[in-house]
Amino acid sequence: MPGLPPGLPGIGHLPVPGAGHHPGLPPVGGDHPGEHPDGDVVLRELKAVLLRCLAEAGPPDEVAARLRDVLAQAQPALLVPLAGGPESQRDQLRAALGWLVANLDDPRAVAAGCGQLGGVLREWGVGPQQAQLAGAALAEALRSAVGAGWTREYDTAVRSTWRLVQHWLADGAAAAGYEPAVWSARVVQHERRADDLAVLRVRPYLPYRFLPGQYTRIEVAGHPQVWRPYSLAGAPRLDNVLELHVRAKAATTVSGALVYGTRVGDRVRLRPAAGEMVLDADSSRALLMIAGDTGVAPFKALLTELAVTGDPRPATLFWGVRTLADLYDVAELDAIARSCRRATVVPVVSDGDPGPYPSGLVTDAVAAYGEWSGADVRLAGPPVMVAATRAILESLLGIDPARIRHDPAAL
Ligand SMILES: Cc1cc2nc3c(=O)[nH]c(=O)nc-3n(C[C@H](O)[C@H](O)[C@H](O)COP(=O)(O)OP(=O)(O)OC[C@H]3O[C@@H](n4cnc5c(N)ncnc54)[C@H](O)[C@@H]3O)c2cc1C
Repeated sequence: MPGLPPGLPGIGHLPVPGAGHHPGLPPVGGDHPGEHPDGDVVLRELKAVLLRCLAEAGPPDEVAARLRDVLAQAQPALLVPLAGGPESQRDQLRAALGWLVANLDDPRAVAAGCGQLGGVLREWGVGPQQAQLAGAALAEALRSAVGAGWTREYDTAVRSTWRLVQHWLADGAAAAGYEPAVWSARVVQHERRADDLAVLRVRPYLPYRFLPGQYTRIEVAGHPQVWRPYSLAGAPRLDNVLELHVRAKAATTVSGALVYGTRVGDRVRLRPAAGEMVLDADSSRALLMIAGDTGVAPFKALLTELAVTGDPRPATLFWGVRTLADLYDVAELDAIARSCRRATVVPVVSDGDPGPYPSGLVTDAVAAYGEWSGADVRLAGPPVMVAATRAILESLLGIDPARIRHDPAAL
């Protein structure tokens, strides 16, 4: 189970269970845990028993490592959503377990967090039966950690808690059945690289899966239910941080809010990643990437993937901008390209002093640079630029239309 921070944003429509069953009472199992009149007392007592049990089980790292080992043996599918190797998975399990126990007496928070997780697990095909087995794995890990001191009280508390968790997970999964999954994320970095341009880093609370080259759709607080697509500018990272490049189109719109009105700590919401601009794993053809302005973002992701995987295919990125000052990320792109086996970045500046770079239209630079008829081509940028570039690539450079890929102009 991924780490869930305290204060995970609430999901208003989820039920707020106020009760479980006292460890000494029949275990929780009903469909309506919120109806128990002494619910809060019961949850506080469950929490107290679990805290004692965890204290007896030993250092949290060791308990989490045991849990990971039990899951790896019994239910490896449940580890798939956890990013990284065993250590990172252990840390995430430790954080999740700590979060669960710390919030157990705050049913609103814990129901919302589990509900959100349930929706995500559903997207990944983790069903109720596997969730039940995760509870058994937790009991097993704790029992083996506590050893001879294991009591019936502990056993009942763990199982009762897990039945509640399953209930909340199921609510989240059911909600995801009729609503697309939504990830809440916090802005962790906001850099204005130009008056109207920002590079943002956001961290979703739950693991966010995507392929380099894909985009997400974002909703900002001031524009509820307005979802705008933005490319993800890096490969997936262990810390779950996503990078976005946003050029403000108008002060009062979503892009304006992201550039001018967003600060570190703000919340945004994300829809699942989508898009076809990913690398063809089985292609060894040259890769030609042509970007206009922030259209460079998905190509930063593709270059990063080429670098990380040591992919041998030759890759060239042409980045068309209006002025030299618009090359807001050229140093990082160059560095990534240098760590690829065979990649080059060619900025092309259309207006004013081009500095050390070619000037003019990006398509002219592409034509002057070489022969591309055998290449896989990816295009990203303002819709007009993408359409014009596509036409030129097909008609003048003889590139097979089937090899040219870009996302739709609007979604
Ligand atoms: C697959 C995809 C990926 C995208 N990735 C990025 C990205 O990484 N970075 C980024 O900054 N934007 C990206 N966009 C564009 C982004 O989704 C929004 O369309 C843009 O930020 C404007 O949204 P808005 O709500 O601020 O403005 P809107 O309310 O939609 O429009 C405000 C004004 O801006 C104009 N406008 C809107 N979009 C464009 C445009 N693309 N070019 C020129 N004028 C426009 C409108 O005509 C209108 O006048 C992407 C679009 C798609 C389809």
